[in-house]
Amino acid sequence: MKVAVFSTKSYDKEYFDRFNTGQRQHLTYFEAALNADTVTLAKGYDCVCLFVNDKGDKETIERLSASGIKLIALRSAGFNNIDLEAAAGNHIKVVRVPAYSPEAVAEHAVALILTLNRKTHKAYNRIRESNFSLEKLVGFNLHGKTVGVIGTGKIGQAFCRIMLGFGCKVIAYDKFPSEEMKKAGVDYRALDDVWQQSDIISLHCPLLPETYHLVDKKAFSKMKKGVMLINSSRGAVINTLDAIDALKDEQLGYLGIDVYEQEEKLFFKDLSELIVPDDMIARLISFPNVLITSHQGFFTREALEQIATVTLKNISDFEKGLPLENEVRS
Ligand code: NAD
Repeated sequence: MKVAVFSTKSYDKEYFDRFNTGQRQHLTYFEAALNADTVTLAKGYDCVCLFVNDKGDKETIERLSASGIKLIALRSAGFNNIDLEAAAGNHIKVVRVPAYSPEAVAEHAVALILTLNRKTHKAYNRIRESNFSLEKLVGFNLHGKTVGVIGTGKIGQAFCRIMLGFGCKVIAYDKFPSEEMKKAGVDYRALDDVWQQSDIISLHCPLLPETYHLVDKKAFSKMKKGVMLINSSRGAVINTLDAIDALKDEQLGYLGIDVYEQEEKLFFKDLSELIVPDDMIARLISFPNVLITSHQGFFTREALEQIATVTLKNISDFEKGLPLENEVRS
């Protein structure tokens, strides 16, 4: 199949070329993200391969369909950037990579917790300047603390296992509690209980209309003063302006985010020589107790291998008319 790969980075090309054995698929790589302005690039292709900040809104999907696209192959687990109803209405199938490496994202969430808590990023910089002082580097023991997990799907479960290993009390909220997690020691609670009782809260639910701004002013007001909030799911699960207010009030003690509401204008790009056109991220960066990474939770060798293999299999299954085990429907 002729596949237009959007938002290509060097590592996408490296891994897709390595696993596209026998050059089975004809892959053309575009650095541009897919949106209404770049959709013309897809003309003459059968499939578009997209990542998290490509925009599959109604207009773009209608234009993809008019250009002959029959398949959207997401190389991500999340699919909130695709209008699934528009895709179905235009006879375009959507496939994704549901679980390329839940541990990669879960381990990154833990990295954010450990860094924020023990301030290793600050210690690294201090030591490079021969500053061996410990002033202001004090952290807290994770052992015995209550960790609240929102969403115990594949990533949330991997995260729960790690935190149980640290000796934390793990409480969780999910509409569909996992029996396996209950047996492992996770205590499912009402959402308000998780807000109220947790020392650390980690978000692992998808972005859906019901989870949009799930963490807002009201939720912050229910949390323990000085709580740590970690988001490696999708930026808009947190109302960023409310998070900034909670940081200013010291209600929110630490914020670690791998995802950000307006990330498509910033993340995966080197803007170091430019003026960053986003005052909200500039404010967040200014807090000493905020740690931001640029959507790198997925970014391990193992995950990149899985993403390339599963995406190429999804495309090949579609080409052969086989059942699409990773299809996403509205
Ligand atoms: P999953 O589908 O296995 O699990 C999601 C869980 O969230 C499910 O158990 C579901 O019941 C639960 N859920 C749904 N609505 C909820 C709600 N309102 N409140 C609480 N829980 C709710 O997905 P996953 O593979 O664990 O991935 C979770 C999310 O992580 C993805 O949707 C994606 O947005 C994000 N993600 C981020 C990265 C990254 O690099 N940072 C990488 C992959 C995925």
